[in-house]
Amino acid sequence: MSKLLVHICCRVDAVYALRKLKEDFPDAYIEGYFYDPNIHPEEEYILRWIETERVCNQIGIKCHLAPYELDRWLEAVKGLENEPERGKRCTVCHDVRLEKTAQFAKKNGFDSITTVLMMSPKKDFDVLKAVGEQVAEKYGLEFLAVDFRKNGGIEKMNRLSKEAQLYHQNYCGCMYALFQQRKGDFIPELVSFGKGRLPGSREERLFIKEIRLYAESSGLPCCEESFSFVNWRLISSVLKINKNPVNHTVLWFSKSIRGVLRDRVKELIEHPDKKVVRLKKSSAQIWILKTPLTEIPLDFPRFTTDPIFIVGNDLETSLNIDTKVELQLKTEFDENGISQNLIIGDRKAEHTVEFYSDTLPDGFGGVELKEITEEITKNKESILKGDKKIVIYGARTAGNIGKFYFKNSYINI
Ligand code: SF4
Repeated sequence: MSKLLVHICCRVDAVYALRKLKEDFPDAYIEGYFYDPNIHPEEEYILRWIETERVCNQIGIKCHLAPYELDRWLEAVKGLENEPERGKRCTVCHDVRLEKTAQFAKKNGFDSITTVLMMSPKKDFDVLKAVGEQVAEKYGLEFLAVDFRKNGGIEKMNRLSKEAQLYHQNYCGCMYALFQQRKGDFIPELVSFGKGRLPGSREERLFIKEIRLYAESSGLPCCEESFSFVNWRLISSVLKINKNPVNHTVLWFSKSIRGVLRDRVKELIEHPDKKVVRLKKSSAQIWILKTPLTEIPLDFPRFTTDPIFIVGNDLETSLNIDTKVELQLKTEFDENGISQNLIIGDRKAEHTVEFYSDTLPDGFGGVELKEITEEITKNKESILKGDKKIVIYGARTAGNIGKFYFKNSYINI
C-alpha cells in the first residue's frame, strides 16, 4: 500500500483513527474524503465538515469535501426507513459512502481505501469489513480493515476529542435514526432557522466553528467555553385585532397562553420607545413599537415573562380603549440550552475586541463572518504578543448570557 484514501464520516472518529493510520503506516501517503449524504439536515453536514477540516489541518492530512448528494442517498435507502440502527439501512448507507470513496480513489491514483467508521462502537465491524472489501475489489483496490477500537482506541479518541474541543453530535446522521430515537417528540436538530442564528442553535455553533477554523488556520490559539442556560422556543402564536390576524413577534421568554384568550384593551401607556397596551382580564400585553415591526433582544437574563406580543407602528391607530383582541401563544422552555463563547488569544490579554455569535430568528442583530475574520487578520500580531484577545459571545439575544458567563465564569470553578 502506498497511497491510501480514508473515508471520513465525522471528526470525532477521525481525530484518533487518522493519527493511528499515520503511525502504523509511516510510509503511506494518506488523504481524507468526506462523503456523507446520510447527514441531515445540510447545516449539520457543514458543521461536521468544518470540524473535520480542523482535525485534518491539525494532523496535516489533506481532506476532500464531496458533494452533498442527499437525493442519491434517499433513493438508495428507500423502503428501509424503519430499519433499526445497525440494520439493513446502515449496510446500504455504508455501501453508498464506500462506493463513492472507491470511485474517487480509483480516479485519483490511490491503491487502497479505508473508513474511520470502523472507529465507532455503534457500527458493526464485520459488516463494514465485508462491505469495504466487496466495494474495493470491484474497483481493483485494497480495503484496509483496521479495528481502531482495540487497545484503548475509544478512550484515546475521547481524550483527543475533548482536548481539541470538538463538537459531539447526539445522533448518527440520518433523520430516520432520529425519528426512532425521539419517538414522536419535537426534533430541534432537524429544524433550520435560515438566516437566524438562535442562541443554543446549530447555526450559532456553526458560526463559532467557522471563526475558529479561520483563526486556527491563521496560527492563533483558540478556546471555547460552553455554558448551559434556560432556552426558550416559540412554537406558534396568533394575534387578532378586531378579528383580523396581524403581523407580530413575541418577546423572548413569554409564557404560553392556555387555549384562546379573548379580551379588550384597558389602557395604553406611553414609553419613550413604545406604547404598552394593557388588557382588561389578562396580564398579557401588546407593545406597539415607535418603529416598524422588529424583534427585540433581551439585554439581561430573565426566566419567564407574561405573554408579550410586539407589533409595528403601522398598527398604532388600530389599538384603542375597548378594541377587541384575540391571542394564542404556545412556547417551550428548555433547561438544556447550550451555547459557547470563543476566545481567540490569551484570556488575560488587557484589550478585548467583542462580537456576538447569535442573532434573532430573522437574522437581525448579528455580525457577518467577514467582519470578524477581517478583525482577526488586523489584530493577529497583537493577539500573538498577548496584548489583545477577540471574544465572540454566545446567547446574547437571550439576555447577554455569554458575556455574563465570560465575566463571571468563576462561578463554575
Ligand atoms: S443510522 Fe447512521 S449508518 Fe445507519 S443509515 Fe442512518 S446515518 Fe447511515
